[in-house]
Amino acid sequence: MSEPRKLLSGATGDWEVVIGLEVHAQVLSKSKLFSGASAEYGAGPNENVSLVDAAMPGMLPVINGYCVEQAVKTGLGLNAKINLWSRFDRKNYFYPDLPQGYQISQYKDPIVGEGEVEVELDDGETIRVGIERLHLEQDAGKSIHDLSPKESYVDLNRSGVALMEIVSKPDMRSADEAAAYYSKLRTILRYLGACDGNMEEGSMRADVNVSVRRPGGPFGTRTETKNVNSIRFVKQAVEYEARRQIEVLESGGKIDQETRLFDVATGKTRPMRSKEDAHDYRYFPDPDLLPLELDPAFVERIRLSLPELPDAKKRRFMRDFGLSGYDAAVLAADKDRAAYFEEVAKGRDGKLAANWVTTELFGALNKKGLEIDQSPIKAAALGRLIDLICDGTISGRIAKDVFQIMLEGGGDPATIVAEKGLKQVTDAGAIERAVDEIIAANPRQVEEVKAKPKTFGWFVGQVMKATGGKANPAAVNDILKKKLGID
Ligand code: ADP
Ligand code: MG
Repeated sequence: MSEPRKLLSGATGDWEVVIGLEVHAQVLSKSKLFSGASAEYGAGPNENVSLVDAAMPGMLPVINGYCVEQAVKTGLGLNAKINLWSRFDRKNYFYPDLPQGYQISQYKDPIVGEGEVEVELDDGETIRVGIERLHLEQDAGKSIHDLSPKESYVDLNRSGVALMEIVSKPDMRSADEAAAYYSKLRTILRYLGACDGNMEEGSMRADVNVSVRRPGGPFGTRTETKNVNSIRFVKQAVEYEARRQIEVLESGGKIDQETRLFDVATGKTRPMRSKEDAHDYRYFPDPDLLPLELDPAFVERIRLSLPELPDAKKRRFMRDFGLSGYDAAVLAADKDRAAYFEEVAKGRDGKLAANWVTTELFGALNKKGLEIDQSPIKAAALGRLIDLICDGTISGRIAKDVFQIMLEGGGDPATIVAEKGLKQVTDAGAIERAVDEIIAANPRQVEEVKAKPKTFGWFVGQVMKATGGKANPAAVNDILKKKLGID
């Protein structure tokens, strides 16, 4: 038994939170899992519904090979076992937006088995989260109850769209860990191109399973909060559920295994229904579909076509550019941002490049609400700005001003430096003159610095001010120390 990683304290002692996520990711595919109807988002009501999706009598499902490929690709990206033999089952339940009366899913024999994901936390720690399985299944349609006072409507556009359900092991121990895992999963899916990860459009959503236990004790009873559709909400759902369960248990109650709903307005969860068991669904192999048998060569071909994934990229950034694990992970988290960074860093000081990209650029883009491909500063231009710092043309301080100008108006850093006369003063004579003037004008501070060397910084500030921030800081330091007679 490993030591608990994180604990919450209650009125009667410490508690450990246990979390497992079931994530539904919509396969990025033109057509649905078992029909040729379009799977695109945003069409008018019931425009993308084939006879198969509407479950007309006599219609037969035909598996979409592209979706199978995406599931295998995702399985490989999750370092998981690909099952060469899998099967589709009917999960039977009534729902007005499920015309078949059952959902075609995979139960005992999913296409992907156990895997593992590496997750970086904000505090720099890395955890591993086990993957239980990934299976393919159909999405349901949508019932609409708020368009008419008397009638309910149904939109079957989503009915039959391919979903991958990715089930984690109960390996997370805090709201932050759950949020970081969810976010990492989205990064991997986007790298692979298997899902667009668009949570507002419902392409990715999570069922959040939470329980609490005494440290080292047996797992507690869990609740499952359905369809949580943002990283922030995953965090809130865990936080709320953990606190609620601790309170129930500490006041002598017990947790019911139930399905709950998340209220985005309040950040709270509330009961929806008591949890059904697998046998309630009367799963059985779908007689309309043959078992899915994969040729090892098909899997191998997909393996060879995988792009460089975020973990590999992160390691390469650490190795080639000397970055910390955290910085490398931040940069690798988004494919486009990673590519931008690489262009800036190539042939330059990697750490300095990472600093400018993550702190200055990402900060500025966030403020402006821009994506990296909309950045007013192109990678090549930011690279040239860094060159100007490294060759001593400008100081890091002035570089920030140039950066702001580039951000507002674009333009080439060298031109801006020339036009605005921002070139660093390295000429010792000019710096000495400024130093002499400041020493002559401030006899009291000159006395003080001899007794209190800490006040030296004040002189540096004065010289920089006198030279409009353009003096070379190293030269200023040297000359000041010499003239003040301190070392
Ligand atoms: P079901 O399909 O009925 O929801 P599963 O056994 O597939 O049940 O588990 C679903 C999810 O619940 C998994 O992500 C798993 O990690 C998580 N889970 C299982 N037991 C616990 C527990 N005691 N506390 C928190 N999460 C749990
Ligand atoms: Mg479930």
